[in-house]
Amino acid sequence: MTTSVPVGIKPKSLRAMEPEGLVVQTMPTSGPLVDRYGRVHSDLRISVTDRCNLRCVYCMPEEGMTFLPNDELLSFDEILRFAGVAKRLGVDAVRLTGGEPLVRKGLVNLVKGLNDLGFEDLSLTTNGTELARRADELAQAGLRRVNISCDSLIPERFAAIRRRATLDVVLNAMDAAEQAGLRPLKINVVLLRGQNDDEVLSFAQFARTTGRTVRFIEFMPLDAQGNWDRAQLVPGREVYELISERWELEPIEATASPAPAERFRFADGAGEIGLISSVTEPFCGTCNRLRLTADGAIRNCLFSDAETTVRDILRQGGSDDAIEHSLRSAVWGKFPGHGINEPDFLSPQRSMSMIGG
Ligand code: SAM
Ligand code: SF4
Repeated sequence: MTTSVPVGIKPKSLRAMEPEGLVVQTMPTSGPLVDRYGRVHSDLRISVTDRCNLRCVYCMPEEGMTFLPNDELLSFDEILRFAGVAKRLGVDAVRLTGGEPLVRKGLVNLVKGLNDLGFEDLSLTTNGTELARRADELAQAGLRRVNISCDSLIPERFAAIRRRATLDVVLNAMDAAEQAGLRPLKINVVLLRGQNDDEVLSFAQFARTTGRTVRFIEFMPLDAQGNWDRAQLVPGREVYELISERWELEPIEATASPAPAERFRFADGAGEIGLISSVTEPFCGTCNRLRLTADGAIRNCLFSDAETTVRDILRQGGSDDAIEHSLRSAVWGKFPGHGINEPDFLSPQRSMSMIGG
């Protein structure tokens, strides 16, 4: 049985953001995964668990998180079947995430299976705590790249923000990933006003000396505690101005595949930075992403509660055509924008780690 939210019903705030003129009038039954605004979806985020060994301040409370029972998680075979259908419909990039994907046992087997399906890009977002000893086997299984989260270059501060992890372990993980050939390495930094926003130039210098891409992410209303406060957010524009006062930055043209990060290189040499300004400068107009949650729901937007469950199809002998229909209707139902900046915006019921960031 498929549960879908009705398409075409939008909260007032989102209606205001609707692009002029609808590109597509009727949901297609063949061709790529397209929504009614013409956005083709080719990038799939697969969450393999909602669990995590850390409790980052902007993501989870220190105590009291509850997690899905194991039997509600999709098995690797179920994920692979879903991914195979998505591939046939034009999805060419898969990123594994969570929670912390490396706490899921046997993840390397899923990586092998996804690699066998032949995706052009296969990557992982991780907190880095378990990566150093797993980087080689993951690379050999077909993983291409990793994004490692690291919110401070000051050990005490890193520990205070990420809780339950230390900076040295994560810096070692970065070296191990590069040695294993998991390149280019991207470092995710969530900036929080008054906590680590004085490290923008240190991270820019880190990008210059290591050649790793540092991506500054705006704090989004997706923490499980529901404590998001706009005053804590550091706008991407501010980061750009701060860095460009010190070093000249050149924009890097977007490639064929739309990316959430606005990319810049240092004009005088190595290094790149990215700005993920999801709140202050949303990139919804070119969003090509869809998500599969660990318990088998398709999400067409991080900020919308709309979900289409595929776990029942996978577990009750449903056909590939039924999976395809779920994918098409989930994409078709996507709103034009996330509406964070509208007065009636409500944070989604599931937080970042439950959806898959
Ligand atoms: N556990 C892995 C990690 O930390 O990289 C992967 C999952 S995590 C949810 C994915 C990314 O989302 C990380 O870079 C993390 O810093 C970011 N993130 C988590 N909560 C966030 C929030 N409320 N606002 C912005 N980014 C957030
Ligand atoms: Fe865990 Fe990643 Fe959330 Fe931190 S950001 S608590 S590492 S899922």
